[in-house]
Amino acid sequence: MEYLKQRIRDVYDFPKKGIVFKDLTTLFKDPRGLHIIGWDLSQLYRDKGVTKVVGIESRGFIGGSILAFELGAGFVPVRKPGKLPADTIQASYDKEYGKDVIEIHRDAITPDDIVVLHDDVLATGGTMAAAYELVKSMNPKKIYINFIIELSALNGRAVLPADAEVTSLITY
Ligand code: AMP
Repeated sequence: MEYLKQRIRDVYDFPKKGIVFKDLTTLFKDPRGLHIIGWDLSQLYRDKGVTKVVGIESRGFIGGSILAFELGAGFVPVRKPGKLPADTIQASYDKEYGKDVIEIHRDAITPDDIVVLHDDVLATGGTMAAAYELVKSMNPKKIYINFIIELSALNGRAVLPADAEVTSLITY
């Protein structure tokens, strides 16, 4: 874990003053770091029968794809509005200023699926809670929630559903 932590860059005041942004590009560009991420994430779900990994735009696409590949599962994107080409369902959630919307393809998940929802960072949890609602509405057998980094001071777990098993590789 130290190897991973050493390669995560803290960027101060990005995207605005007061935020310490956890920059994972410095970890993803390191071949061994990328390999370890894929291995460590997949170890959490090896024997869970996962059929789909759902990654949240855009940084959740990187770890989510690697995890899906390692598990032999499929990959599904959750995106900002207007980006997915076919029929979608939407969820909106509160951000600091106003509302945000995310979408998923209506046929992306079936009731046979066992799903891991993945994003790079858990901050306030609003984005993941909305993504969970989208996936839940398609009635999969089980939904797990996963992050590479959890910012525990923001207590994002409090807004995530109690019945979802939440894991993160690195907690600050
Ligand atoms: P949340 O507040 O949990 O809804 O986070 C929204 C999104 O912003 C997540 O997808 C994170 O990737 C990103 N994010 C929020 N805070 C940070 C941070 N301090 N460093 C890096 N990414 C962040």
